[in-house]
Amino acid sequence: MLYGRMMQDQLTITGVLQHAQRFHAGSEIVSRTSDNKVHHLRYEQFYRRVCQLANALVKAGVRSGDRIATLAWNDHRHLEIYYASSCIGAVCHTINPRLFDEQLTFIANDAEDRFLFFDPQFHDKVMELKHTFETVERYIVLCEDEPEAAAGNGPETYESFIADEAASFDWPELDENQASALCYTSGTTGNPKGVLFSHRSTLIHALSVSGGDWLCVRQRDSILPVVPMFHANAWGIPYAALMNGAKLVLPGYALDGPSLHGLLNDERVTLMAGVPTVWLGLLDYLNRNELSINSVERMMVGGSAAPMAIIHQFEERYDVRVMHGWGMTELSPVGTLGALKNHQASLPPQERYQLQALQGRPLFGVDLRIVDEAGHVLPHDGRAIGALQVKGPWVVGSYYKDTSPESFTEDGWFETGDVAAIDPEGYLIITDRTKDVIKSGGEWISSIELENIAVGHPSVAEAACISIKHSKWGERPVVCVVLKEDAEANPDDIKAIYEGQVARWCIPDEIIVVDDLPHTATGKLSKLELRRRFEGYSLKTDQA
Ligand code: AMP
Repeated sequence: MLYGRMMQDQLTITGVLQHAQRFHAGSEIVSRTSDNKVHHLRYEQFYRRVCQLANALVKAGVRSGDRIATLAWNDHRHLEIYYASSCIGAVCHTINPRLFDEQLTFIANDAEDRFLFFDPQFHDKVMELKHTFETVERYIVLCEDEPEAAAGNGPETYESFIADEAASFDWPELDENQASALCYTSGTTGNPKGVLFSHRSTLIHALSVSGGDWLCVRQRDSILPVVPMFHANAWGIPYAALMNGAKLVLPGYALDGPSLHGLLNDERVTLMAGVPTVWLGLLDYLNRNELSINSVERMMVGGSAAPMAIIHQFEERYDVRVMHGWGMTELSPVGTLGALKNHQASLPPQERYQLQALQGRPLFGVDLRIVDEAGHVLPHDGRAIGALQVKGPWVVGSYYKDTSPESFTEDGWFETGDVAAIDPEGYLIITDRTKDVIKSGGEWISSIELENIAVGHPSVAEAACISIKHSKWGERPVVCVVLKEDAEANPDDIKAIYEGQVARWCIPDEIIVVDDLPHTATGKLSKLELRRRFEGYSLKTDQA
């Protein structure tokens, strides 16, 4: 074999940090902190603080591979932990504060976290659960030095932890395959599972999502990740932004319309990323108050299916190009993004929106296939529906501590647990989670499609579709809807909008107006819980 003669430099997060400091020292990191102040740092100042934290961690006895946990919203201190812990060879373990207590305990113990950094909002929760965390040695609260802490009565504060440390650090040479971060899946059934990212997977993912067709991250951009840094590394933006020298705007805990609108305009944000619920809230606020977001050019929406309203309203009213993406924690997390191809970009708006509502096409590096129940690979014709499998350099190879080996096929693919079709252009069409599929008379009905149609009704704020047992058809779809504030609509009005949008046999048997819908810790609909609520429900259409 003839080897290439190129350097073997390792792909590490330290490389991103050093590049950012050397070549983009003046770029900014803006964050809203837990005390609701907007805080500005230049990359050079950020770098010095990361060095201080690295020194403090090493002095406190942190060794290569140790897990450093965070329970925090998006701000500069959280970002400093991201970089300092990974770059000294330790692992940044982001924990979702919305999880149930038992899950928080399970995750911290399973990960064997040694340090826990947390926002002041979570102080009471942490103190309540402290006795259940078996391995945590030090608790540090992410805030300025406070009088009680200084007097030794409260938990140690972040600012005092790093205060006396040197602002330079001799970074170790790391192996690119070394673990850099750990994130647990939300675990709707059974215990959450750990996904252990490496420096290499993190870097290749960040390089890829930065690409021109995708997030197109440039130095001149100002990027607002509304998606939390505890949810799959905020979709890789904390790395992609620094890699490209972009301004990073971190919104803290306040994700409501007025708070986001203020940050978007004050910080001249050009690119924003978040889940549909956040964008629906912002849209509603902008529409009701006739406000603008002039600097925003493009946005990413993902994490669950984006309703059409987000796509056409942001474009038509606010001139923002919407990119719908699909991913999972297990994919670092981005798998596909909705960038239109050349021949599709000039289609009439309604046709374009239909394409943008699909989950996008795979980034280079992600391979996708769908298989039937026997494991046979199905065609990419936009019609065949099967279990979605993926592979690639930023896809999980096995779970931390090897739980769930059954999620991997013998020929090396990861079973996503999603059900999908793939069209001839490579666009992914997610129809369901495997455990949520509705099988009526032997045919699959997409619950996601029925939910998207329901939220297209002007009075509907949110919709969730589940199957109900039917003596003739096996299962039939029922759509539960929450109405918008002050809106009125009867179930028949809502049902009427399905006419002509789906085949007759796919029209839900019933629309049920409910006060609220259950959600998981990552804000997704919890169909498991909803099915529990409807256990034993009998359909009026079922004559038996
Ligand atoms: P998580 O690991 O918490 O990000 O959850 C990943 C799951 O969210 C995926 O397996 C999908 O079921 C769902 N998901 C993510 N993005 C989308 C999307 N754009 N449309 C539909 N479902 C999505």
